[in-house]
Amino acid sequence: MNQTPTTPAAQPLAESSELAALQGLQSAELTERYNASLMGVFGTPQRVLVRGSGCVVWDADGREYLDLLGGIAVNALGHAHPFLTSVVSSQLATLGHVSNFFTSPTQIALAEKLLSLAQAPEGSKVFFANSGTEANEAAFKLARRNDGAGTGTPRRRIIALENAFHGRSMGALALTWKQAYREPFEPLPGGVEWVPAGDVEALRAAVDESVAAVFIEPIQGEAGVRGYPAGYLQAAREITRDAGALLIIDEVQTGIGRTGTWFASEGIEPDAITLAKGLGGGFPIGALITFGERTSSLLSAGQHGTTFGGNPAATASALATLHVIESQGLLEHVREMGQFLSVQLGKLDFITEVRAHGLLVGFDLASDVAPAVVRAALEAGFIINSTGPGSLRLAPPLIITAGQLQVFIDALPGLYTTAQEDHA
Ligand SMILES: *Cc1c(COP(=O)(O)O)cnc(C)c1O
Repeated sequence: MNQTPTTPAAQPLAESSELAALQGLQSAELTERYNASLMGVFGTPQRVLVRGSGCVVWDADGREYLDLLGGIAVNALGHAHPFLTSVVSSQLATLGHVSNFFTSPTQIALAEKLLSLAQAPEGSKVFFANSGTEANEAAFKLARRNDGAGTGTPRRRIIALENAFHGRSMGALALTWKQAYREPFEPLPGGVEWVPAGDVEALRAAVDESVAAVFIEPIQGEAGVRGYPAGYLQAAREITRDAGALLIIDEVQTGIGRTGTWFASEGIEPDAITLAKGLGGGFPIGALITFGERTSSLLSAGQHGTTFGGNPAATASALATLHVIESQGLLEHVREMGQFLSVQLGKLDFITEVRAHGLLVGFDLASDVAPAVVRAALEAGFIINSTGPGSLRLAPPLIITAGQLQVFIDALPGLYTTAQEDHA
């Protein structure tokens, strides 16, 4: 009965599996099968991808793409990173899942590591979830517990920002600005109000002792990579502290080195931070970090939970990702690449604005042809994303090189011309 862990070897799925039947099919047929079997919430996928290595992926027809989106700011270490692959394989071959009736060393090590990276004070804690929306869902429940009990002033209100995106589950959706996302699912959890993003006076006017929490993304990613005027986050910190409201920073897209620092909100001591996308380097994991004793004790035993949260495989993936970012000096590399992109994109005359925050980059085009540029880019072998009719977003793996970025920059004028013709 006493078995020692076996060394993991790369084993493809067995010939006998359902997968074998799809082997060798072309993209067109696979896409048809997708549309017949997958719920239509994402529309028709742009390509069927079968393999990746570093910053490159291949589709079912053997075409190659430079991945400048990184699974939407997720694949921090690119694809099939050897260290991440080996750590997760080895963890799965040792202990993959245990439920939260138990813990495991990877979970404890990751919690301690995150608290240290966040420079969280004594008494700070971590809750592990499986996605960004779940991390925010936990934060929403945390906010509800900052209810003003015992003070005679109930805190029923929650403030979020115009153009905010916090996720698609009911609580996180209730915080999300875009009406088209929310309206079909009402009634949503109540009490949320939005104020104009970046406007200190509007925030000050909205926040008083009836507010439980303020939710802010340090940079609005889905809204097109938009930051705020200097000093806004600091002002939000002061305003919320004075009113006894929690300042909850949604770092799901910006955290874990994406902007060239571990957290985009560094220097502001928030009450909570939520994380997900880049944390597991491609493996699903989310986290809520609560700062200090008081905030960390708002949710007590039995008040929240999740079956998968913080399981050994997921937490090992995050430990491996953090280790590579740290040991390879990727934060500095990200800052350099962001600067490089900012300068190079800024030279192109059809680009009207560049918003580079490390390797989270938004830029605007002189005409509203962004979706057509995305299509032209794909045809030419580049994966990028548009956040609006005239705006594009890049969030490549943190390991991308200046040489790879240059190939894209050289191609961009041609892609823009193609897009304009396509549009006409
Ligand atoms: C992507 C994102 C979310 C939602 O994360 P999921 O993992 O897709 O649920 C929440 N907040 C921000 C800022 C995001 O970018």
